Amino acid sequence: MDESCMFCRIVAGAAPAHQVFESDDVLAFMDHRPLNPGHVLVIPKWHEPDLHRLDEDIYLAVMKTSKRLAEVLAELFEPPKVGLFVIGFHVPHVHVHVVPLYSIDDFTADAIQLAMRTRPDQGALAETCRRVRDYVSKAG
Ligand SMILES: [Zn+2]
Repeated sequence: MDESCMFCRIVAGAAPAHQVFESDDVLAFMDHRPLNPGHVLVIPKWHEPDLHRLDEDIYLAVMKTSKRLAEVLAELFEPPKVGLFVIGFHVPHVHVHVVPLYSIDDFTADAIQLAMRTRPDQGALAETCRRVRDYVSKAG
């Protein structure tokens, strides 16, 4: 664990998150500054800044969970697309964004900057988290 890493702190239970899924290798939680409602982050439980440097098994576990959550978001929100992307400039711990997308404009530098400046709506996040988590556990 990297004490200075926000996502390591979430894995350790030292920082709060709206968690929707957990396995031995992977944690998934709501992005607290979503591009759209339902925006989820999937992370490995071990600190690694770069996706391509992950152990192969951990990489596959992260991507399998990302696919599963994309299926859940597609069914819950019925967007035209569910986008997966990995960037990692803000938090240097691998995280796959899984986001319901309604337009290519939902995923621009301006949209990302706007989301970063927007105060999180904790009530809406908690409610969306409950819906996603319930769906994940119900569907197995
Ligand atoms: Zn970390």
